[in-house]
Amino acid sequence: MKKNDLKELKEKLFYKKENVFDTRTKKEEKQITDYAKGYMHFLDVAKTEREAVVEGVKMLKENGFEEYVLGGKIVAGGKYYLNNRGKSLFAFVAGTENVENGIRICAAHVDSPRLDLKQHPMFESEGFAYLKTHYYGGIRKYQWVTIPLALHGVVTTVDGESVEVVIGEDECDPIFCITDLLPHLGREQSQKPLGTAHTGEGLNLLIGSQPLEGATEDKVKFNMLKILNEKYGITESDFVSAELTAVPAGKARELGLDRSMIGAYGHDDRVCAYPSLTAIIENKNSEHTLMCILADKEEIGSEGVSGMKCRLIVDLIEEISKNLGGNPNVVRANSMCLSADVSAGYDPNYPEVFEKRNSAIINCGVVMNKYTGGGGKSSTNDASAEYVGQIRKIFKDAGVVWQTAELGRIDAGGGGTVAMYIANQNINTVDLGVAVLSMHAPMEVISKNDLYEAHKALSAFCK
Ligand code: MN
Ligand code: MN
Repeated sequence: MKKNDLKELKEKLFYKKENVFDTRTKKEEKQITDYAKGYMHFLDVAKTEREAVVEGVKMLKENGFEEYVLGGKIVAGGKYYLNNRGKSLFAFVAGTENVENGIRICAAHVDSPRLDLKQHPMFESEGFAYLKTHYYGGIRKYQWVTIPLALHGVVTTVDGESVEVVIGEDECDPIFCITDLLPHLGREQSQKPLGTAHTGEGLNLLIGSQPLEGATEDKVKFNMLKILNEKYGITESDFVSAELTAVPAGKARELGLDRSMIGAYGHDDRVCAYPSLTAIIENKNSEHTLMCILADKEEIGSEGVSGMKCRLIVDLIEEISKNLGGNPNVVRANSMCLSADVSAGYDPNYPEVFEKRNSAIINCGVVMNKYTGGGGKSSTNDASAEYVGQIRKIFKDAGVVWQTAELGRIDAGGGGTVAMYIANQNINTVDLGVAVLSMHAPMEVISKNDLYEAHKALSAFCK
């Protein structure tokens, strides 16, 4: 064969991973920067699932979505949101086509790993006041000591009054932290395996050291309770009906001399939640019925009334079907879902845990995980060839830069997403999201370009 023919044939036969910088235009660069700005704002105001729901509702309302409560009326062409107990959010657009063609669902989660306060958190020891924590989700404990932490959450008093708490985000606010040993005295600790050097019970949040004037015992704790009472009207008993959590304090930041990346807490999974939300908001007159789900509790197994295992998704699809004149079983069977969650980005510092050919490479676009799981594809949705083919076509037509990946090397570990819980409802589902470095760390890293490709992919799906 001639040299040119061989070249052409090779281009046709071989798979080549695309890199966003190969095709990037000046015009797109501006769009990427602007989109990233909106996303960084979302990161700053939505560090917990509750805050994400508040911000999500705000964005939806501004764009003409109306509140829907179960049992309410839904009309074709209408735009609605269901606020599930302030902890998870369903936005949907009732399509103009036959609802039995199915619903297009983007499902992300808005809870992130963090340190929740225990029910009886406060104690005093040797002149310091502390709050005991119980970690939420898969954290590496050593990463959470000696970093600035903020307190976020809600406290409900016995009278049913709820007070919202955010301390540590404003520049004038105090922050909190968990202390660690100095290296000079850390010889024994340094010998321990990484996962055991810090214990769950050792993650106590330092909150004060000044005693209440005139008090004779529990003087510092006394002072802390007095400060909290003055500011929020709460007492120690109210911690039992509170959801307070310590999260990394501070704002999302551009990362790198070229500002091509974003370093922040909670990319997992806001980096998918935000584009899922903007996809449904920005869609113009899609004939399809669309749904965006921002779920809670993904990091601890998707259980409970705000998790993706809750039957609310089935109930809501039933309500939509009934209102639009369709059989809900048929609607679910014909629905399609992108389970929008992050993927482990290939990290050149740790090549040993990746198999590069099947890894998510930063700046190579949005990532599809046909399956996740671990131990021989256990505990995962595994999307069918046909469904992946269908999604490929949507991305091809929209010019999305995308790649497929597994979650690291076989048997290096593993993980899951909400995909299987949605697929279990007879809905075709595949995982799609952005590659993250240092996933679950107090500061995770993503690429603005990959974020933008996720935005393009999810928007194309919602067309
Ligand atoms: Mn996730
Ligand atoms: Mn996660």
